[in-house]
Amino acid sequence: MEDWQRILRESLRTPEEIAERFGLEVEEVRKIGRVFKIQITPYFASLIKKKGDPLYKQVVPDMAELAENSGEEDPLEEDLDSPVPSIVHRYPDRVLFLVSHSCASYCRFCTRKRKVGDPSKIHPRYIEDGIHYIKDHPEVRDVIISGGDPLILNDDKLEAIISSVRAIPHVEIIRIGSRVPCFLPQRITEKLVNMLKKYHPLYMNVHFNHPDEVTPEAAKALNMLADAGIPLGNQTVLLRGINDDVMTMRKLMQKLLVVRVRPYYIYQADYVKGTDHFRTTVEKGLEIYQGLRGWTSGLAVPHYVIDAPGGGGKIPLIPEYVQSISDEKVVLRNYVGEIYVYPQVKTQKKRRPRAQTPCYAAQSQQL
Ligand SMILES: *Cc1c(COP(=O)(O)O)cnc(C)c1O
Ligand code: SF4
Repeated sequence: MEDWQRILRESLRTPEEIAERFGLEVEEVRKIGRVFKIQITPYFASLIKKKGDPLYKQVVPDMAELAENSGEEDPLEEDLDSPVPSIVHRYPDRVLFLVSHSCASYCRFCTRKRKVGDPSKIHPRYIEDGIHYIKDHPEVRDVIISGGDPLILNDDKLEAIISSVRAIPHVEIIRIGSRVPCFLPQRITEKLVNMLKKYHPLYMNVHFNHPDEVTPEAAKALNMLADAGIPLGNQTVLLRGINDDVMTMRKLMQKLLVVRVRPYYIYQADYVKGTDHFRTTVEKGLEIYQGLRGWTSGLAVPHYVIDAPGGGGKIPLIPEYVQSISDEKVVLRNYVGEIYVYPQVKTQKKRRPRAQTPCYAAQSQQL
């Protein structure tokens, strides 16, 4: 057994352990655990400084999860875009490939609560179906290996999956989505990175939500991945009481750049059942975006997106920097709110058409 597997095995997971460690009622923890699996690696638990802090809230169960009043099981309607259980095919040229039902720790706000932690929902036998689906669909040029967390699989199982995907001629790039560098950085071993780097072009998107998660251990893991030539991106979920202020987000994005991770997305929290206590307003997200753009390196500014309920995919939200557009001028607002005017190009047209929405759907069909 490898070190990381031993650490993982020592995770807090029984209601008794969790209740004792965090001073909770065993019965309550048991109730929550029946709805969504509870598990916290000893490493991540050691980063929790006090009850209710930003790391605590992400992984320690809360009775608010049992609130029935709002949220959907599958807000993104991923199941409707699943031709086989392990594949979500929503966009023209890329698929999500769900290969693992387990995670190192379970985020209480997880969008895929309905599947994650439940072996019957992301079953190993579905992996083969997924590979066949990708083989049969030549338009798929980008495969995002996700779950659950794919890096929970041992090196051999993981390599079997990645090498099968890599062997498909029309697959140009492979991406891995993982929160392991945050929850269990010890999993990133020399052996793992030496295996991964055989399958370039390979990208990895990691998941950090708070600056306190960017520890020396995480830095070491991320640097090993970067040294293996794997470009790293980060996905952050905007969470109430955890990272919903400008200074926390700015610090997080800056710390990620230092450990060679490029911030990629900030997600508005999805409308998932039992996670209402984590949601913030969209105005808060826009305020955070404005507190990044211009105030710090452009590299530290991710896209702010909502994954549209009902399966519309990710939609970017951008504060209004354009105040007006006329035949003569474009009026713009800069990051501190000052107004600037850009003179328009003189055109022959009498009247400028209103802002157009080009038909990308028609374009994409020609590609
Ligand atoms: C997020 C997501 C992707 C990847 O989207 P990018 O914007 O290309 O990173 C692909 N498929 C599904 C279903 C997704 O949710
Ligand atoms: S690591 Fe990802 S898939 Fe796993 S519980 Fe957290 S958000 Fe969900």
